[in-house]
Amino acid sequence: CGIFAYLNYLVEKDRREIIKNLLTGLSRLEYRGYDSAGIAIDGESETDVLLFKQVGKVAALKAKIDADTNLNFDKKFMSHVSMAHTRWATHGQPSERNSHPHRSDPKSEFTVVHNGIITNYKELRTLLEKKGYQFESDTDTECIAKLAKYVYDSQKGSKFLSFTNLIKAVCKELEGAFAMLLKSTHYPNEMIATRRGSPLLIGVRTAKKLKVDFVDVEFGAGDITAVSAEPAVKRDQSRAFLSEDGLPQQIEYFLASDPSAIVEHTKRVLYLEDDDIAHINEGELHIHRLRRDDGNQSSFRTIQTL
Ligand code: GLU
Repeated sequence: CGIFAYLNYLVEKDRREIIKNLLTGLSRLEYRGYDSAGIAIDGESETDVLLFKQVGKVAALKAKIDADTNLNFDKKFMSHVSMAHTRWATHGQPSERNSHPHRSDPKSEFTVVHNGIITNYKELRTLLEKKGYQFESDTDTECIAKLAKYVYDSQKGSKFLSFTNLIKAVCKELEGAFAMLLKSTHYPNEMIATRRGSPLLIGVRTAKKLKVDFVDVEFGAGDITAVSAEPAVKRDQSRAFLSEDGLPQQIEYFLASDPSAIVEHTKRVLYLEDDDIAHINEGELHIHRLRRDDGNQSSFRTIQTL
C-alpha cells in the first residue's frame, strides 16, 4: 500500500541512518493502512541483499531489525540503494512470506516492492513455473521479480542489457496497476522506479541546482523483445538530471508513493507519469517516457532547472 526508497550517492551514511530513513518513511505512510512491512538493504557487499519482513506494524519491523545481532549498524556506505514497503494484501494473506520486498531467487538478483495489482499474474506465474522458477509466496508481485530474472538470463551477454531496457521488457508483459521499485545485484547502486495507474514520486536533495534536459532519444535498437513478440517502442523521451556544471555531486533521492513521506526531506519533487521508467545510476536520474505526440512533432527539447 505504501512505497518508500532512500538512495545516497557520494554522501556517507551508516546502515543505522539508512534504516532509520526507511522506517521513518514507512511510518509517514502508516495512515493509509497496511498489514505488514518490509525493507531491502545491502549486506556486506553490493551483491548481497538483506531483506527484513514483518507482519503488523512498522514498530514491529523495527524491533525485529534492532534485534538482529549479526547486523553491523555502523557499516558505512558512500553510495547505497534501499527500499521499503507497507503492504495491504490483495493476493495472498498477510504473512511474512507474502510481505514485500519480493525477490527473484534466494540470492535476490532482483528485488521488488510493488503497490497495486498485476491482473495477469497467473499466466505469468504458470509460464515462469514451467521454466523452472520456484515461487516463495502467493502474491501477484513475485512474478515481477522472477520475470526480471528470466529476461536477464535469456539476454545474458547482450550489450543492450541496461537495467532500463530490461525493465521495459518486463513492463510490456504486465497488466493491471502498479507503482514499483527494483534493485538488482547485477546493477549495483542503481534503481528503477516505474508506475502505471498508481502514484509514485521522486524527491531530490542536493546542494546544486539540477539541469533537467528533456530530449528525444532513439531507444528502438536496444529494446529487448525476448519475452514479447510485440515490436519495440521506437522513441522515448529521456530526462537526465545533472548538476548544471555536469559534474558528479553529492545527492540523495527519496522516492515514495505519497508526498507525505518526502516533504520533510526535500521540496524538490517530480511526479512520474504512467509508463515512465526512471533510472537512477551514479547519482543521475534518467526518465524514459513514452512519446505521446501524434507523430507530427519530429523533435522536442526543453531544458529546465529543478
Ligand atoms: N498486490 C500486492 C500484494 O498483495 C501489493 C499490495 C499493495 O499495494 O500493498 O502483495
